[in-house]
Amino acid sequence: MPVRFPDLAFLRRAACLALGLALAACASHTTPQAPVLSRGNQQCLAEIDKLGVQYKVEPMGASAGPQCQIDNPIRVSAATIPFSRPTVASCAFVLEFDKFEREIIRPLAVKTFGHDLKTIVHFGAYNCRATKAGRESEHAHGMAMDVAGFELTDGTMISVKHEWNERGKKRDFLRAVATKACGYFNEVLDPDSDRDHVDHIHLDLGRWKYCIHR
Ligand SMILES: [Zn+2]
Repeated sequence: MPVRFPDLAFLRRAACLALGLALAACASHTTPQAPVLSRGNQQCLAEIDKLGVQYKVEPMGASAGPQCQIDNPIRVSAATIPFSRPTVASCAFVLEFDKFEREIIRPLAVKTFGHDLKTIVHFGAYNCRATKAGRESEHAHGMAMDVAGFELTDGTMISVKHEWNERGKKRDFLRAVATKACGYFNEVLDPDSDRDHVDHIHLDLGRWKYCIHR
């Protein structure tokens, strides 16, 4: 008795079905998933909610790769003070940055210039990259931010690039911010640290402890 083979149309349908299932499986790996928050992460979000931080929970897709995962990622447009543009960071970092703004930067701005802060000017927080020295950057985990300057409520701009070495109140303010930052962050790098930081102050909550002003 001859063996019957399925016709071509059937084979094509079966192949498409298998391919469809495979694609669906692939898609489920690359589509950002809603994070399952640990108790600590939920607590962090509850705290920044109370503080009035403006943010959205940021989905982390597998496309970011294991080297560039953030614990509890959020896209922030304002902590106590609005950012010059929204940026992605870990909730834990934003919580500490918000505290630093409230306890140090804002009072220091009012004391030095007689005006509060309007904007934190920055070059970004999350960035999937290594440092120039080849080690893992804390930016790759959303645990660092590069602060380029500040805008006051009267429109005055204070720039790390332009004012760090110019005698006057702006320089004193920037240097005081960098020095005080050592009490909040693990690593603080500024124009006095190296040539990679001539135009910003790097603040991070990573594993390395380094702060030339401590
Ligand atoms: Zn940096």
